Amino acid sequence: MSADSTLVAPSSGCATTSQPEILRQRGQREVFCGLTGIIWLHRKMQDAFFLVVGSRTCAHLLQSAAGVMIFAEPRFATAIIEERDLAGMADCQDELDRIVDRLLVRRPEIRTLFLVGSCPSEVIKLDLGKAAQRLGVKFGGRTRILNYSGSGIETTFTEGEDACLTSLVPEMPAASAAEAQNLLVIGALPDIVEDQFRRLFTELGIATVDFLPAKRMADLPKVGPNTVFLLAQPFLTETTGALQRRGAKRLDALFPFGAEGTTDWLRAAAEAFGVDRIHFNRVVAPGRERAKRAIAHCRDRLEGKRITFLPDSQLELPLARFLATELGMVPVEVGTPYLNRELNARELALLPAATRLSEGQDVDLQLDRVRADRPDLTVCGLGLANPLEAEGLSTKWAIELVFSPIHGFEQAGDLAELFARPLRRRDILRV
Ligand code: SF4
Repeated sequence: MSADSTLVAPSSGCATTSQPEILRQRGQREVFCGLTGIIWLHRKMQDAFFLVVGSRTCAHLLQSAAGVMIFAEPRFATAIIEERDLAGMADCQDELDRIVDRLLVRRPEIRTLFLVGSCPSEVIKLDLGKAAQRLGVKFGGRTRILNYSGSGIETTFTEGEDACLTSLVPEMPAASAAEAQNLLVIGALPDIVEDQFRRLFTELGIATVDFLPAKRMADLPKVGPNTVFLLAQPFLTETTGALQRRGAKRLDALFPFGAEGTTDWLRAAAEAFGVDRIHFNRVVAPGRERAKRAIAHCRDRLEGKRITFLPDSQLELPLARFLATELGMVPVEVGTPYLNRELNARELALLPAATRLSEGQDVDLQLDRVRADRPDLTVCGLGLANPLEAEGLSTKWAIELVFSPIHGFEQAGDLAELFARPLRRRDILRV
């Protein structure tokens, strides 16, 4: 198969309707809040600092989600706001100013400081937008001060990254209509994956490529009417809107998971830059073939196995598409916290028609469906994995898929392996 062949839905029935049925549920949900994104964002943006304005619960969440000893100076912290009435809020603003003062005097290398909102009522009363403006005037020229919300009331898990990147878009310098077309890749990627993609774009002859977020936040890429962008992550709805309002155009593509998703994603960029098709095939074919060979190692273990995704990271749809089209798995239910049909249209079209799609969560009803379906593998949050394992159902922690490098050709085999491992463990335990 050549690199420009098109992907077709599994023969179990392709999604022929443009608007598949979706089960919408609004009840108790078991998902991390948007503060979790700080764990991967602080590693990526090496001259930024995340100051969570929150409670002890927020501090505990960050500390346990980080789950590692910090040997260097940390790049995130929590300013704990204790219970106060409205009269005490002015002191709160002063206290926040004092904390930021102390931090920036001690850490002059910080170039961007994010004030991150959370959900305790004291924090909601505090206007972090105004605080960022006020502090921005004071430290302007030296440290950019921005704010966004990672509150569990407003955001789930990966939406924290969306909110963070959205806050950066107004800061990006304007590119004029006279400037040459440039490509932006949007969404935090591990450095190793970013470097691999950069090499592929260079080989394709696309020279003006920037990543958001970049390793150094001091140099934000330009955006304007000649900017086109590829989403590396499916959960960036607000960032997409903000970039489009600045004139940039989104390139429609599958997300870069697996051999076919990555090929399709690169092809969208190649077409936008008029890259010759033969040259595209020549550049992409070796990586694509390596990815297919790596994926094939897991095929025996995964083919025909039934899988359910509980709503967690918003990666569920593209991952289910990858497993169905490239490994022959059968997605029974694919749940997602929010479904952006436009960003996921290509993914939806490739899911088997029999797959149940759900948006939002009512956790008890969802667990009832898992028990009735008894899939071979359930991808879910940490809190649900243990009870399901106790009932004899194999699980995969959704958070691992967010923390592991899974994008692109070179990671395709590891991505397949992440799903094969729990099934192998189950088989060993049964023996
Ligand atoms: Fe909990 Fe809200 Fe803090 Fe998240 S932001 S840790 S949900 S209190």
